[in-house]
Amino acid sequence: MAAIVICEFMDEDVIKRVLVGYDLLYNPTLVDRRADLHAAISDARALIVRNRTQVNVELLARAPMLQAVGRLGVGLDNIDMATCKARGIAVYPATGANDAAVVEYVIGATLTLLRGTFGGIDAVMSSEWPRMKLIGREVGGKRLGLIGFGSIGRKTGGVAAALGMTVYAHDPYIAPSDTAWSMPWGNVTPLDFNALLRESDVVSLHVPLTDTTRNMLDRAAIALMKRGAILINTARGGVLDETAVADALRSGTLGGAALDVFEQEPLTKERAQIFGGCPNLILTPHIAGVTLEANARVSTMVAEKIRDHLAGGR
Ligand code: NAD
Repeated sequence: MAAIVICEFMDEDVIKRVLVGYDLLYNPTLVDRRADLHAAISDARALIVRNRTQVNVELLARAPMLQAVGRLGVGLDNIDMATCKARGIAVYPATGANDAAVVEYVIGATLTLLRGTFGGIDAVMSSEWPRMKLIGREVGGKRLGLIGFGSIGRKTGGVAAALGMTVYAHDPYIAPSDTAWSMPWGNVTPLDFNALLRESDVVSLHVPLTDTTRNMLDRAAIALMKRGAILINTARGGVLDETAVADALRSGTLGGAALDVFEQEPLTKERAQIFGGCPNLILTPHIAGVTLEANARVSTMVAEKIRDHLAGGR
């Protein structure tokens, strides 16, 4: 049995380069074969996962030798941190390594959804020439409301400011006196939750999934948003009410949405029906933080932390 088990996809060149010499099992299909995963980790010293593997009490009980968990990403909601702590198992997220990918996703979605110009290929090819239908909006001068002003929220704000957006943020864990509100690229206006929803043309979520953030953007909160506002969720499924978002898109309360994360992943065909008929909607399979470059950075960071931990360097 292997000392290091990697049960979700990872940059293979990094595995070969950084974890060379370790007895290692890399099988990205293991995440979907729970019994095989349990067997594989029976004498593993390290486990490397993305966000799909539930590292819960049941799984941890199957890994009595486990010393470290590498998380190829940042959210830790799929890892039972209390049990890891009690067992002395170190958990290593890839803090910051996929920020740039998420930032580019949010900015790309903002530009695409506000402009609304890129969906007319069939009409252009059939000579309909729909110029009036495809006149959209600019980002310059619009207000971006960030819910959660941590690592990704701050970097997103910087790019948005460079595009001429005014940046608001809601983050009750950052004191009003904190220097984070005076970024090198400009000042950010802290707003309470309801005010941010009322004032923003684009709302983007950047909070972890916790007991306080679960369903924070519920039907009542969505109803506070500006008519025609854009909503982007790259944080976690479960922080917003998906049915309420779909209803708001169909009624025109929302002018567009990009959802990268879902309450249930993968989104099933049955569940996806709630989005039927929604205009100006982008759905992606939890990929905002994954680009070729981000995968290499995330894989390198986690592989090095696991290697150093096993070598006793920690
Ligand atoms: P971070 O820890 O740097 O920042 C999170 C911020 O949220 C913190 O400043 C915290 O104070 C704030 N926060 C916590 N509870 C809040 C609440 N109730 N209201 C408002 N703010 C609150 O994390 P990050 O690196 O910026 O990442 C944010 C989240 O994005 C991650 O937890 C993860 O779930 C998600 N993520 C998704 C992808 C993807 O591929 N879709 C990739 C990376 C991260």
